[in-house]
Amino acid sequence: MTKKIPITVAEGDGIGPEIMAATLRILEAGGANLEIHKVEIGEKVYLSGENAGIQPKTWDTIRNTKAFLKAPITTPQGGGFKSLNVTVRTSLGLYANVRPCVAYAPFIGTKHPGMDVVIVRENEEDLYTGIEYRQSEDTVHALKIISRPGCEKIIRYAFEYAKANKRKKVTCFTKDNILKLSDGQFHKIFEEIAHEYPTIENEHWIVDIGAAKLADTPEMFDVVVMPNLYGDILSDVAAQIAGSVGLAGSANIGEHGAMFEAIHGSAPRRAGQNVANPSGLILASVLMLVHLGENTAAENIHNAWLKTIEDGVHTYDIFKDGISKKLVGTKEFGQAVIDRLGKKPERLKSVKYDASPEKMKLYTAKATGKKSDKKTVGVDVFIDANESVESMQKKLSSLSQELILTEIGNRGVRVWPETMQETFCIDQWRCRYMSKEKGGAVSHKQIAGLLGKMVEAGIDFIHTENLCIFDGVPGFSTPQGK
Ligand code: NAD
Repeated sequence: MTKKIPITVAEGDGIGPEIMAATLRILEAGGANLEIHKVEIGEKVYLSGENAGIQPKTWDTIRNTKAFLKAPITTPQGGGFKSLNVTVRTSLGLYANVRPCVAYAPFIGTKHPGMDVVIVRENEEDLYTGIEYRQSEDTVHALKIISRPGCEKIIRYAFEYAKANKRKKVTCFTKDNILKLSDGQFHKIFEEIAHEYPTIENEHWIVDIGAAKLADTPEMFDVVVMPNLYGDILSDVAAQIAGSVGLAGSANIGEHGAMFEAIHGSAPRRAGQNVANPSGLILASVLMLVHLGENTAAENIHNAWLKTIEDGVHTYDIFKDGISKKLVGTKEFGQAVIDRLGKKPERLKSVKYDASPEKMKLYTAKATGKKSDKKTVGVDVFIDANESVESMQKKLSSLSQELILTEIGNRGVRVWPETMQETFCIDQWRCRYMSKEKGGAVSHKQIAGLLGKMVEAGIDFIHTENLCIFDGVPGFSTPQGK
């Protein structure tokens, strides 16, 4: 007998313990070679005073095992509780969120019978970092962070996933017609990496029309990679239109760990009644087995699950008169899967996982270390003020001998020197200062001097951004003007 693979298991809250019990029985019966280490996370832990819902000692168990199989948890009502999922993903560097969205027609209702799409969502960056500030009476802002190593890791992952799973195409969604620098970087790196995989087709869509196409004709897509927030939204849309939001599992993969879970929540109203559908967690455990290289068990369990669905043995949430044959509870569904181990579906497509898999390559993307020629050429100072543009311009223009005010913007629109009467302005102003010499360098000392003058003039500055050029290319956006 080969050495067992240690995994961490959390039973979670609500329906969690029931669906986990069914899943673990199937894993054992399906020949998965696992050593289970149970931990407690979720509601009880939150209420004991741990605001991320996880005890410090649990991190060690997760670290010392090869994978974390997690049932859904209940986040207690009220403020002050951090999302456990986000904490686990970001703390452990689980940068790739993988969600297969598959239709099981005609056995489960779907709008798109042929749908078989995998969404690969970046998991650590973007607006999801949750870095937000209230800056003035009326205005809050959030930071969208997109780094080169972050893009490289997730985009390479998407291509490696496609290669390992014999998928033919990788599509990238971004909004780089508007977010030219941040989403622009994601798109640019996608193009660079796509070249390294000549046998895999690649394409890019602006996320709005891409999302519309995904909802309308998902057959056009195979693997789709995108930044965090778009991925968050569109992976739910994709799972829903596949007809299987209650059935989908997802993987969160990083270099130092991996977490697997169903995409649904803890359904507290269904808890303790033996009615919940364990399929999402069962399919998540199949993703885990493939990740661990336990492909024979994964294939066995996945095909048995497909056969159960095909035989019409359904829990209440997917039961349909005329299609379903037998309404079952959580335990009975699990037993039905166990009874079908070794069988394959006849009408649904069976799965095949390579018996001696090559481990999928995970890339270690480090900070590039490259040193571009970086030159600071100005500064944008954001100001909280309730004044007319004219009076602000007067005050701001006379502050510095060395830096000149070149423009004032409001919500990305230039309002000085040119102004349009109709432009609606809020109480956050972006005031751009450049060197007196055209294109000349601006020092940190000059910027600090400017801010000092603002202090003396009683100007409420709330945020600054240095304007830099890298190897001659501007690293800042230019506001829209008339
Ligand atoms: P939910 O997914 O728990 O429930 C939505 C609906 O789907 C409910 O009608 C529920 O009964 C049904 N449902 C969900 N899973 C089912 C299953 N396996 N079998 C049968 N029916 C199922 O979403 P919610 O009600 O918005 O959230 C409930 C709790 O779950 C909240 O505390 C939320 O924070 C938490 N949650 C946790 C996770 C997670 O741990 N990953 C994810 C989402 C929500």
